[in-house]
Amino acid sequence: VDADGVVTLTGDRYGLCGQKLPYLLPWVERTMGIAIPLTGLHTPHYPPAIPESRLPQSVAQALAQILAPEQILTEGVQRLRRGHGQTQEEMYAIKYGTLARVPDVVVLPHSEAQVVALMELAQRHDVCLLPYGGGTSVTEALRCRADEDRCIIAVDMAKMNRILWVDPINRMACIEAGAVGRHIQAALKSQGFTMGHEPDSIEFSTLGGWIATHASGMKRNKYGNIEELVLDMNVVTPKGVMSRQQVAPRESAGMDVRRAMFGSEGTLGIITQAVVKLYDLPAVQQYGSVIFPSFEDGVAFLYELTQKNVLPVSVRLVDNIQFQLSQALKGEKKGLQAFKSQAEKLFVTRIKGFDPERMVACTMVYEGSEEEVARQQKEVLALAAQHRGINGGPQNGERGYQLTFGIAYIRDFVMNHYLLAESFETSVPWSRVLERCDRVKRRVEREHAARKLPGRPLITARVTQMYATGVAVYFYFAYFFKGVADPSGTYSAIEAAAREEILAAGGSISHHHGVGALRRAFLPKIMSEAALTLRAETQRAFDPKGVLTANCQPNHKAAQH
Ligand SMILES: Cc1cc2nc3c(=O)[nH]c(=O)nc-3n(C[C@H](O)[C@H](O)[C@H](O)COP(=O)(O)OP(=O)(O)OC[C@H]3O[C@@H](n4cnc5c(N)ncnc54)[C@H](O)[C@@H]3O)c2cc1C
Repeated sequence: VDADGVVTLTGDRYGLCGQKLPYLLPWVERTMGIAIPLTGLHTPHYPPAIPESRLPQSVAQALAQILAPEQILTEGVQRLRRGHGQTQEEMYAIKYGTLARVPDVVVLPHSEAQVVALMELAQRHDVCLLPYGGGTSVTEALRCRADEDRCIIAVDMAKMNRILWVDPINRMACIEAGAVGRHIQAALKSQGFTMGHEPDSIEFSTLGGWIATHASGMKRNKYGNIEELVLDMNVVTPKGVMSRQQVAPRESAGMDVRRAMFGSEGTLGIITQAVVKLYDLPAVQQYGSVIFPSFEDGVAFLYELTQKNVLPVSVRLVDNIQFQLSQALKGEKKGLQAFKSQAEKLFVTRIKGFDPERMVACTMVYEGSEEEVARQQKEVLALAAQHRGINGGPQNGERGYQLTFGIAYIRDFVMNHYLLAESFETSVPWSRVLERCDRVKRRVEREHAARKLPGRPLITARVTQMYATGVAVYFYFAYFFKGVADPSGTYSAIEAAAREEILAAGGSISHHHGVGALRRAFLPKIMSEAALTLRAETQRAFDPKGVLTANCQPNHKAAQH
């Protein structure tokens, strides 16, 4: 950010990079009623003090019997990096505080046999294993319990990243669990396939992490969520390797314990490989966007899309605040570009009568053959028009999707300017979407006001996934914390209140991020005593010695409470 408050995103990784963003900070200041300091910053001091390793000599020796020296990392920063994910609590702690407990050693197995040997070692030496994929967890699922006295070994799956086989006839591929999304995407593309799972974290998250968190990609309308894409998997558990003889397209073989792995968050075993479905690469991919006069119109349009089954691979609806944010993140316009943009604005606001403080945008991705895409676009625009929607063009659509890749960095950057931000998501039936979005926003505003925090909170919603029965909604909440005694704790308290409001308004604890340590306390509010007991007993059956509990209480009901 320069002396005039103009932001430039450095690097060359994203569409936004290199552009000057003169409208961003003025928009934030106006919307939040604050003055963002450009000097006297909240300067981070990464890396923080890192707890000493408690690796016993006996365990170090046992590890050296299994792994080569370069597969064992003991350096502080390496251990720190495997001891956190990307929540605001974790980012704030590593930038401005400390983590009380991090893994004592990091290991990078090359093969399932090495993972088996590590599991045996852990049981023999009474130490913990913490599976680590891409570190993109947003639920504190990687954060170590401060009171864990046993040695913690982070098992980083990065070296188990191979595509083991591709079966083009039966449309399946077997992939090691540490493979990162963007690498899977590139490797399958070179053979003319895609698995179609594209979470916004695809650059860093892994196949094993997707299964362990019960993830959902932005193209689920066509390809499904992770549980629909995975046909089989191998898991190294404390009881041995869970695997099957053959992969069937579908099977009725009694209770399927593999299902328990979706959402297991590293507590039942270490996933080493999985067989996934393959789809042909689409011949055509196109973006699109529609502007609606209000969020209500946009939601009604989405409902109709699902009921009529006219579903582009991805559809997202942002509310007015996020629409404004996306405008504020546009580069400076000059000459003809500025004239065109002004003319478009006048058309939408003066001629169509849209209120800039209420209008919203819907972005789409279409995939398929040329005819399929053309037909879908026509149907979508016709339905949009019935809900007072105006075609916003492909460029705005593409920008919307590119933005979600860079947004995490913007969150980390604005922290230095005393702004703390985070997203949280849920899912809700259609009939409660509007009420629930409104209730959560009002609750955050009330909580913010009750604490007499500076300025106004920024709270905004985006519908990201749609089903015949309802939708997934992301909320972003940001607040200005200059002069606030406990910025991160205050944020957490407000987010917890918002989560209570979500549950009270009929929303789920999470649509796809999971529970981790962050939301465990809410489980008794959504599950019966019997359900909690069965979960805890399943965990105990898989892991009687509590080897996989570095992130939660070992093997009793408190593990789930
Ligand atoms: C910017 C950003 C965007 C995101 N967008 C999405 C999105 O669109 N959709 C979505 O679903 N999520 C999203 N997330 C959340 C996150 O990316 C997912 O939860 C992801 O599935 C985690 O994968 P990972 O490989 O990074 O796992 P990690 O963060 O390393 O670990 C997450 C959990 O999985 C366990 N685990 C990891 N690997 C294994 C393994 N091999 N065996 C057993 N357990 C394992 C860990 O112990 C931990 O409990 C996003 C996160 C960020 C930061």
